[in-house]
Amino acid sequence: MRPPLRHVVRRPLTRRELMKAAPLGVVAAGAGALLLRGTQAEASVTTGTCRLCLMHCGLSCTVRDGRLVKVEGDLKARTKGFVCEHGFALRELVHSGARLKAPLLRRGEAFHEVSWDDALAEVAQKLDAVKQRYGPQAFLIQTGWPLVRHPLVDVLHRFARAFGSPNVASVASLCEASLRMGQALTVGSKYAPDVQRAKTFVVWGANPATTAPPFAHVVAQKALKGALVVVDPVKTQLARDATEYVQVRPGTDGALALGLLHVIFKEGWRDRAALERDSVGLAELEALAATFPPERVAQLTSVPSEQLLRVAKRLGTEGPVGIWQGLGVEHHEHGVQTVRAITSLEVVCGRFPDGLVGRAVLTPPGAHLAREPLPALYRMKTPAPVPPPVTVPPLGRATHPLFELFNREAQGQDLPAAVLEDTPYPVRAVMLVASNALVTSAQTQRLSAAVDKLELLVSVDPFFTASARRADVVLPAATFAEAPDVDEADRVAAQGLVPVQHDARDDYRIIAGLAKAMGLGAYFPWPTFAEYRAAPQLPWMDEDAALRPVPRPVDAQPRFSTLSGRVEFSSSLLTSVGASAVPDWKPPSAAPSAEFPLWLVTGPRPRAYINSQFHGVPSIEARMRQCEVLVHEAVARTAGVKDGAKVLVVSPFGGVEARAVVTADVHPETVVIPAGWAEANVNVLIGPSVEDAISGFPAFRSGTCRVEPV
Ligand code: SF4
Repeated sequence: MRPPLRHVVRRPLTRRELMKAAPLGVVAAGAGALLLRGTQAEASVTTGTCRLCLMHCGLSCTVRDGRLVKVEGDLKARTKGFVCEHGFALRELVHSGARLKAPLLRRGEAFHEVSWDDALAEVAQKLDAVKQRYGPQAFLIQTGWPLVRHPLVDVLHRFARAFGSPNVASVASLCEASLRMGQALTVGSKYAPDVQRAKTFVVWGANPATTAPPFAHVVAQKALKGALVVVDPVKTQLARDATEYVQVRPGTDGALALGLLHVIFKEGWRDRAALERDSVGLAELEALAATFPPERVAQLTSVPSEQLLRVAKRLGTEGPVGIWQGLGVEHHEHGVQTVRAITSLEVVCGRFPDGLVGRAVLTPPGAHLAREPLPALYRMKTPAPVPPPVTVPPLGRATHPLFELFNREAQGQDLPAAVLEDTPYPVRAVMLVASNALVTSAQTQRLSAAVDKLELLVSVDPFFTASARRADVVLPAATFAEAPDVDEADRVAAQGLVPVQHDARDDYRIIAGLAKAMGLGAYFPWPTFAEYRAAPQLPWMDEDAALRPVPRPVDAQPRFSTLSGRVEFSSSLLTSVGASAVPDWKPPSAAPSAEFPLWLVTGPRPRAYINSQFHGVPSIEARMRQCEVLVHEAVARTAGVKDGAKVLVVSPFGGVEARAVVTADVHPETVVIPAGWAEANVNVLIGPSVEDAISGFPAFRSGTCRVEPV
């Protein structure tokens, strides 16, 4: 067994505590760490990882009497002691009065507390009934952010597969996967831009101050050096400080990237010989970019052609260039191709003397055999006994085959069709694990109708979320802080940062318990997650040879882990699914009209909340008490909207009330509203059929709307 992560550090007692402990000193010495009635318990300090967002900051938590009393940054961690306000709010989260205290069963409209045995037996019996009636594929697990890339994800896959279902969907169905796919289709893997080595740095559709706070200052330093370009419909603080701020119309980022390439190619600001040597499809990319001259791009994007020429010159002559792409780039109908266009721009301008782009793309000569060729899959491992493969395809394989190829999971956006129309087959049981899908997924109305038709909805969550209120069974999960963690060196903690609260259980224990209740305990013989992880791990989920693309003949020494071993401006994988081989751009199908004259951007994260997390946490709620919508001052004047007043945002699909923030900092044709509010659910504004054909992502950031005073 690997060594546990938990380090118990004895803090020296203060003089006051020593005085208190003095009468009992001898007993205390003999009893070791035993807690004695009438004394203040000794504090223990545990270190671990914050999993409230993908930054995974190192935490140092002081626990006394089973309660988290202090949260600090771990100075030895990669994040060097950084903790944001969400990390500091962990105490409020763990000890919140709103935590679920015991399993709940729905009986009619009411919920009743029951024992774990009864709750798991109910789930097992209903799952079994669904299996008998519709087949095992009629069960789907949906996981949310806290589990993304957490090793527990393979526990969920293991359970689904033991049951006989291929359907595990995660937040990758609508977040970050288009970015990963677009970069991997171009250079072989997702990569981080090299902030340090880039001479010019571009932040495109991202706001590191809210999404990557531990690293925001590194980007801000580029602004101090006069080397920062920000592309965004919203003038963020970073945009204000940038050397060049490009206010782009939503959904036109791909056209902008191709327009910049047009100028760079035309002016010859690139090393053509090196590009020809290391890429495929350069001539096709040049031909595509030739159709995006500055005048056309200015019309499409609303970026003045003089600024386009200026930025192109900077990128073309002040390289190497690093580009940080955010969700603002991928949440469109053509998000994957937009990512590819921007990545191609980075390849053309961003090559370092070693020929690389960004970080983590290197395939050292001779080492390529050790790396996977495309697609850069999430390589899951699991110990024996491995459940037998499932032959039924997961949801989404037929509609978005590359999504499955890159993510090895179901596309959750196809769930409503499976429930409401039995397409491609019926799904009738869903288990939400750390997922508030009825608030955070697109097409809320369809999903809500689908929930009505389900024969079983289970919610596994520390809180009674809006989605849990619709469930048949609610299972109280431990927060990440109470669950065993896995560090970067793959070591597993025996316990969490703080003891499990109430009658909650950590996710592994819940899934393993359910497996036992269903007669699938043979696949979960390990009592704890630490023991599960300590067992020898085998690679798995690779049985389906049909999912493996046939690599093209590669160079003797491929430098990129694409199928060809080179940068792929032209992709045979894309043509195999009927998509354009080159990163073409098409306008959003939803165009502003007389009825809905504005572009609608939903989902950018405000500083206060992380999607639907932290609603109900006092210190965070104090920062933002209502959902706020950014409205340009000219639009507000025309619509009669006052700053701070309540407004109705109406799209062709629904309406949402929010508090207006009238500003000059948002693109003049655009309204921007965050996601995650149950009482102002912006996902009712998103249509069911507008999605990226390659990844299946909803077009969260290029819809249309109008605003009205309430
Ligand atoms: S940035 Fe904040 S929420 Fe994210 S991991 Fe770090 S402390 Fe946690």
